[in-house]
Amino acid sequence: MSAVPTVSASQWQERAAALQPRSQIFIDGKFAPAASGATFDNINPATGKSLGAVASGDLADIDRAVASARAAFRKGSWVHQPPKARKKVLLKLADLMLVHREELALLETLDMGKPIGDSLAVDIPSAANCIRWYAEAIDKVYDEVAPTGPNALATITREAMGVIGAIVPWNFPLLMSSWKIGPVLATGNSLVLKPSEKSPLTALRIAELAVEAGLPEGVFNVVPGFGHTAGKALAAHMDIDCITFTGSTATGKTVMQLAAQSNLKKVSLECGGKSPNIVMADAPDIEKAAKAAAFAIFFNQGEMCSAGSRLLVQESIKDRMLETIATIGKSMTPGDPLDPDTKLGAIVDEVQMKRVLSYIDVGKADGAKVAFGGSRVLAETGGYFVEPTVFDGVRPQMRIAREEIFGPVLATISFKTAEEAIEIANDVEYGLAAAVWTRDINVAHRTARALRAGTVYVNCYDADDITVPFGGYKQSGIGRDKSLHALDKYTELKTTWIELS
Ligand code: NAD
Repeated sequence: MSAVPTVSASQWQERAAALQPRSQIFIDGKFAPAASGATFDNINPATGKSLGAVASGDLADIDRAVASARAAFRKGSWVHQPPKARKKVLLKLADLMLVHREELALLETLDMGKPIGDSLAVDIPSAANCIRWYAEAIDKVYDEVAPTGPNALATITREAMGVIGAIVPWNFPLLMSSWKIGPVLATGNSLVLKPSEKSPLTALRIAELAVEAGLPEGVFNVVPGFGHTAGKALAAHMDIDCITFTGSTATGKTVMQLAAQSNLKKVSLECGGKSPNIVMADAPDIEKAAKAAAFAIFFNQGEMCSAGSRLLVQESIKDRMLETIATIGKSMTPGDPLDPDTKLGAIVDEVQMKRVLSYIDVGKADGAKVAFGGSRVLAETGGYFVEPTVFDGVRPQMRIAREEIFGPVLATISFKTAEEAIEIANDVEYGLAAAVWTRDINVAHRTARALRAGTVYVNCYDADDITVPFGGYKQSGIGRDKSLHALDKYTELKTTWIELS
């Protein structure tokens, strides 16, 4: 399958006009309106116009979805299938995702504004790969026998937890959902997924594809809706065994409170970041480091939890780094997300665009200097576009150096010594990702160990594979997505002690 689309911008526009996205709640293998009949307008960030009405789920719909998921779990139609049978269904789902790759990519791009080339080359294949990987893994993990001695046999087995609630954000809608769907379903659980109200379309379609792949009805339900209604109802539900959340740190804290106040359901949180990208003067290739620094903040419009949003650069190479970043940044002018040549799309909605622009104002007011960018562009389209923006002369205490902006805005901070860089890097509430560029293996190892982050890149940024865990130290979260470690989140450990006579 080619990674580069052969479809032109006008052909994508035609397909978009003909598209009829699924827009109702998916419960028990069927689409239905919200119990209240309520809907919300799903806005295309590239035009500011509605893509259509989507069912707005609330407590009553979450109740129905959880009841359906619980009934499927009790019946055992999925959890009691042998792992190799579950594997077959999930492999089929991964295949179907690739069969429908262009449709899913189009839905993703229309829904959240990312370039169609990225949806096609990154989001959809990575999501399918995630489902495939967990499908392949699940008939290869073994349980344990404890070393208890000759008079007992103690087994330690993993069991599906039951009904899992997943709440996900809008920046990689299908991929973030897949990081939940893969391990949750592979381990035999039932799932109620609440996508972001800003990007509900691919979640609804993939649930339908899962049933087509052979997943029993009721095992996978999707309730679109707002955070304060559907999200809150899911996090507070008395019959959910575990809530797995990806989103902002502030909402993560609310989800944890709701879990505690209800039934003490297990909680895992993938939250925000303000990741430092440290470039030492002896970086093996300063041009490569500069290109990676640009990609780390401009890819996906900077709407990335792991964005390298703080560039910590040793004084002597700062100007050279910024020159290359400026060349790349200026070449990434925002454009129509449906144009295959576009590298930077629209910000997800007006609220987020205003938030990004207000942080640019805050940076200026606090005394940082705009090296380039800094403005909204293409306002005549009705869409929400912000140009790549780099601040120079940022001090570690400034708000733009401490708070997550979630847009294409880079804060450049210069430092003198490795110790100073580590100090600045760790002095924020987040700890999701970090990077260090140096040719000195001792500095690389020592810095990597000293950085308080779930992922540390050495001489690269955002290198990725489903085999490695992803998640945060500090207020970037609790628990890990991806890799075999994600299976721990959705399984209970059971000890069975057998006395031998
Ligand atoms: P958000 O916190 O506003 O929303 C995330 C989800 O939570 C949405 O589905 C939303 O409807 C729901 N929600 C909102 N209020 C709720 C409530 N009171 N109860 C229950 N659910 C509620 O985040 P966002 O703006 O959608 O996403 C951006 C954030 O996600 C950023 O902070 C980013 O860093 C983070 N993120 C983290 C990771 C990771 O793996 N660590 C990955 C992607 C995004």
